[in-house]
Formats: sequence, C-alpha cells, structure tokens
Amino acid sequence: MVERGVRMKCPFCGADDTKVTDSRDSDVFETRRRRECEKCAKRFTTYERIERSPLVVIKKDGRRENFSSEKLKTGLLKACEKREVSVEKIEEAMREIENALRNEDKSEIPSRLVGELVIRRLRKLDKVAYIRFASIYKDFEDVKDFEKEIKSIK
Ligand SMILES: [Zn+2]
Repeated sequence: MVERGVRMKCPFCGADDTKVTDSRDSDVFETRRRRECEKCAKRFTTYERIERSPLVVIKKDGRRENFSSEKLKTGLLKACEKREVSVEKIEEAMREIENALRNEDKSEIPSRLVGELVIRRLRKLDKVAYIRFASIYKDFEDVKDFEKEIKSIK
C-alpha cells in the first residue's frame, strides 16, 4: 500500500500528487513526510499537522470545557517551579498525558482522570512537584497512600 497522507502538490513542477517515501511523527501533533514527485522525481519534505477533534473535559460540577494543553503545561510548570526539571521534560510529560487521554477513546473525559494522569507522571518526574500538585488536587482518592508518600519523602 502506498501511503499518501494529505494530497500534496509538487513545489517544483506543480504536479497534482506526490508519493510519500518516508513518514514519521515528529511529535504527536505533526507528521513529517518525505515525498517524491511522480512526474519530475524531485524530493521534498512536508510537515503535516494532524487535525484532531477537541477533547472535552467534564469538571466536577458537571461543566464541560475543551481540554487545553496550554493549561496543562501551565499547571505542570507551576508544580515544577524552582525544581530541576527542564521545560523539555515538562513538554514531554504534557504530550504523554495528552496521548494517554486520547487513547481513552472517549469524547468526554472526567477531570478526575486528567488529575490522576498528571499525578502519576509527576511522581516519576519529581517528588516535590508531585506532592505540590497532589496537595492542591482535592480529588486525591487514596489519602492514605498520599500520606505515606509524604512521610517517605520527609
Ligand atoms: Zn514535480
């Protein structure tokens, strides 16, 4: 099967369609494709943004809002403030969380699940950031586990 992705005009000769010779996701939002024109045989690279439907988060009070990766990033940055966690690591965590949410394959996601994913990810990333986030996160379900965790850090 020849993968084509989005129909892409050749920038050199203007031929209508080009063939994809290589394709990889440069990050979750973008796919990089090497293409070759079937007419003039010139090669070029395209970066195609993936159109995705918005994720809807159901808040505790029942209100719904679109999932915002910017908001998630702000939350993560805040939790990691003055910690030795690079922005790269934070962005990586952000993408992992968003991917995990999308893999849930539901159009609406309870905010509780978002919180749990963030907590789990922060726990791997930085213990202090994890505690900070968890302590402001009211829905923390297993309070006993949480208390144990704090004691183990102190
Ligand atoms: Zn061409």
